Amino acid sequence: MRLIFLGTGGYHPSERRHTASLLFPDIGLAFDAGTGFFRVQDRLKTDTLDVFLTHAHLDHICGLTFFLVPVLRGDVNSVRVHGTAKTLTAVQQHLFAEELFPVAPPFEWCELTATTQVEVADGGRLTCFELEHPGGSLGYRIDWPDRSIAYITDTTAPGNYLAFIRDVDVLIHECYFPDEMLDWARKTGHSSATAVAEVARDCGAKRLYLVHADPQHPEDDPVDLNRIRRIFPAAELAEDLQEIEF
Ligand SMILES: [Zn+2]
Ligand SMILES: [Zn+2]
Repeated sequence: MRLIFLGTGGYHPSERRHTASLLFPDIGLAFDAGTGFFRVQDRLKTDTLDVFLTHAHLDHICGLTFFLVPVLRGDVNSVRVHGTAKTLTAVQQHLFAEELFPVAPPFEWCELTATTQVEVADGGRLTCFELEHPGGSLGYRIDWPDRSIAYITDTTAPGNYLAFIRDVDVLIHECYFPDEMLDWARKTGHSSATAVAEVARDCGAKRLYLVHADPQHPEDDPVDLNRIRRIFPAAELAEDLQEIEF
């Protein structure tokens, strides 16, 4: 299975990173629609797209507005946007308020609850679960018969989600702050480096990719990867347009 990191930053885009978006181009599935979402149209290999939103904070949704033209052009036949009722309502009422965006895109809105399971391509099963964050966020996991992946963003590690990501092959986890800013991580509902490495180790993940980096430090790695690798060696800081196979 191929995955492309379309946006690996949080809060606002930087010269190095767009905001949250991940794409499985061959099965037409995306996680989040931050500013990196404009990159979907040139990379999508299917004529349908399912977008799973973690929550409605702008750095995770604003890219939905970039997908009107591909739909009107007929590049895709259907776009389904999945999220909690609260998230979908916020997106429809605010992001797509007529004053902000005058053309309502013909998206299908699909409500998720923390117990919803969704069948995805190649025999995969997607599950979601609630994460702690101001306003809430959803964590996602997809299990195929021979591989699995989890996406955890906008929450403070460690949380009560460990059971949901147990033994996952690929863990994509936010890491907004270095350890020195642990108090900020807690205050803003985000994660700091050592705690994320410990989550990866404790859940038995095989690989860890860090995303949702702090855009205030675009030229340097926002976290000390060596410190993370002492706890969990198979860790990488994901970069925009990085592609992985798993
Ligand atoms: Zn965010
Ligand atoms: Zn958020």
